[in-house]
Amino acid sequence: MKTPFVTKEQLDAITAEFPTPFHLYDEKGIRETARAVNEAFSWNPGFKEYFAVKATPNPTILKILQEEGCGVDCATDVELMMAHELGIKDISFTSNDTRPEEFVCAREINATINLDAYEDISFLEKAAGLPETVSLRYNPGGVFSLGTDIMDHPEESKFGMTKAQLLQGYKDLKAKGIKEFGLHAFLASNTVTNAYYPTLAGQLFELALEIREEAGVELSFINLSGGVGIDYSPADKQNDIAVIGEGVHQKFDEILVPNGLGNVKIFTELGRFMLASNGHLITKVLHLKDTYRHYVGVDASAVNLLRPAMYDAYHHITNISNPQGAVEVVDVVGSLCENNDKFAKNRQLPQARIGDTLVIHDTGAHGFSMGYQYNGRLRSAEILLQEDGSVRLIRRAETPEDYFATLYGFGLEEDE
Ligand SMILES: *Cc1c(COP(=O)(O)O)cnc(C)c1O
Repeated sequence: MKTPFVTKEQLDAITAEFPTPFHLYDEKGIRETARAVNEAFSWNPGFKEYFAVKATPNPTILKILQEEGCGVDCATDVELMMAHELGIKDISFTSNDTRPEEFVCAREINATINLDAYEDISFLEKAAGLPETVSLRYNPGGVFSLGTDIMDHPEESKFGMTKAQLLQGYKDLKAKGIKEFGLHAFLASNTVTNAYYPTLAGQLFELALEIREEAGVELSFINLSGGVGIDYSPADKQNDIAVIGEGVHQKFDEILVPNGLGNVKIFTELGRFMLASNGHLITKVLHLKDTYRHYVGVDASAVNLLRPAMYDAYHHITNISNPQGAVEVVDVVGSLCENNDKFAKNRQLPQARIGDTLVIHDTGAHGFSMGYQYNGRLRSAEILLQEDGSVRLIRRAETPEDYFATLYGFGLEEDE
């Protein structure tokens, strides 16, 4: 079972004040998750979580995470600008296919640059000059497996560089006078196992020894990046970050410490694990329709949450207005003129009635941020459920004016 982090009474009050759909975030849950991550890696004095901004690019959320000791990882100049504007000091920049001005922006705000490609070394040097610290992103190719379980296919991934390029890269950087070095890899996404980080860490720690041997470079930090998943489905087992942190600790003590690399700092760039379960998409039932299937039409659509349409991802749904209703098998759909605009297909749900409030779970990461405006559907508001139980608007909903703004002077005129 999955239970919402708000009660029906709270949600009735919130929806009386703010029109649905909207994304609701749980401040208490966000702080608890951040504390659990920091605690899990507290054995490593230099540990830092750089929250992946793309997961939930909201200033209030980033400030909460900053208060909990997190930095941020950005992928574009716009994300860098937001982080800098918020006064966040610990910023990393992990981009790919990067425009020169984005490297200039990263250098200006002194973000730690993590290069995706061997070819990026000379590109960065020309575009913005080389900083004192550079991190390189590794792609081992092949498949990434845990025992007999294939987790992902790095050989098909556009990210990162080969081992030969990595070793050459460190040699080149050392020759150019770079002082501090990092290593980064992201080999599997949304992993639902406590073994992903420890396995990845083991591989990267061994590689760190090889880098010292072959390139004469001692790494200052190793970035395990993102990829720790959450239990989207009630059938999934929840990851235990304490077990994960301890698993990385063991590899650290086995491989790095005996080889004199016990000062290496561990960084993470978790997005999903930090926020996904701390967000709900709140929507109301607008229509019921019976044809070859039973349809529950809601006022949210794929523009508010793309994952089901894009990845056929499961998001649990609670009918908080009628939790004890007789179970029906339904498709929960939005209004877009696209048949993939379905939040659930053939889902067993307690009877939905027009006006019922549905909670779509685990939308706090890669939810609002993947939104778009197809069909002239606009981006929703984001609301924070604060620790004292009160709510605060942390992003207003878009208005038609926002949508038309880029067209004024191009066939549309602004109302006087
Ligand atoms: C997307 C991304 C992350 C976050 O991934 P999650 O799966 O949300 O943890 C971290 N680092 C980089 C470079 C990314 O692109």
